[in-house]
Amino acid sequence: QAEGKLYFVDATLLAGRLPKRAQFGHKGTYGHALLLAGSRGKIGAALLATQACLRSGVGLLTVRTPAVGYDILQTAAPEAMALTDPASDFISELPELSPYSAIGIGPGLDKADETKLVLEQLLRETKVPLVVDADALNMLRANPGLLQLLPPDSILTPHPKEFERLAGPARDDYHRLELLREFCQQHRCYTVLKGAHTCLGTPTGELYFNSTGNPGMATGGSGDVLTGILTALRAQHLPPLDTALLGVYAHGRAGDLAARHTGEAGLIAGDLTRFIGPALQELT
Ligand code: AMP
Ligand code: MG
Repeated sequence: QAEGKLYFVDATLLAGRLPKRAQFGHKGTYGHALLLAGSRGKIGAALLATQACLRSGVGLLTVRTPAVGYDILQTAAPEAMALTDPASDFISELPELSPYSAIGIGPGLDKADETKLVLEQLLRETKVPLVVDADALNMLRANPGLLQLLPPDSILTPHPKEFERLAGPARDDYHRLELLREFCQQHRCYTVLKGAHTCLGTPTGELYFNSTGNPGMATGGSGDVLTGILTALRAQHLPPLDTALLGVYAHGRAGDLAARHTGEAGLIAGDLTRFIGPALQELT
């Protein structure tokens, strides 16, 4: 495999990549995102992704959750539209996909067989870029043929354990980066390997190391926030590389800004959503 370059992601590398809001822009200008997320007991994951997506500039957001999530979502995030699944506890049916400019799937999903079929049908039907996270990644692993169906330029966001399930065990940190490079080239996707220095792999073999974030972010729901941010940026028609670089950087920066108020130990994932706006603002 070709050796790609290594990059350090700081504000200088990102300068000029985040478009300014257009004076005469309207909500149609900024895309319509779809999130497929949540199951009984994990509606919070769907809600965190929803709030993060709304805070990342998307024009419109529709959320597919099981019926158990309807009241929660409509109350806690009235800005999002709820397209509730007929099943009570997990997602069992894929909605009509034509309105959406990007689709995020994974946070808080149940591994029910019905949900696996929804993911498979999504991969077969959509040409829209996907952001794939959490148990959607684990379901991809369960059926390796599905990886072949990923729309080009999709973004995957595994933490190291999820990445190991996708690409096999690594002997050490260097080997893990080699596996990341190979995986992205083989499957023509962008993969955000999450951790203290999140590393983005690209289909052309480059590796980008993020510089923001802190250990306060090692708390449940942090990753769901990232999925929301990435889905929003992709829905706004940013290229996949810019989406991944800006999203990962802004997510970490939001964590750094939030930790000034809460401290690292006191940080919870919901705090991140309040600082996504300021983090993005610094990049415009
Ligand atoms: P997840 O495991 O899916 O909830 O994702 C955790 C998120 O928090 C990822 O975006 C990680 O990059 C971030 N994170 C976790 N631990 C740290 C850390 N020690 N330093 C910086 N970021 C972290
Ligand atoms: Mg996660």
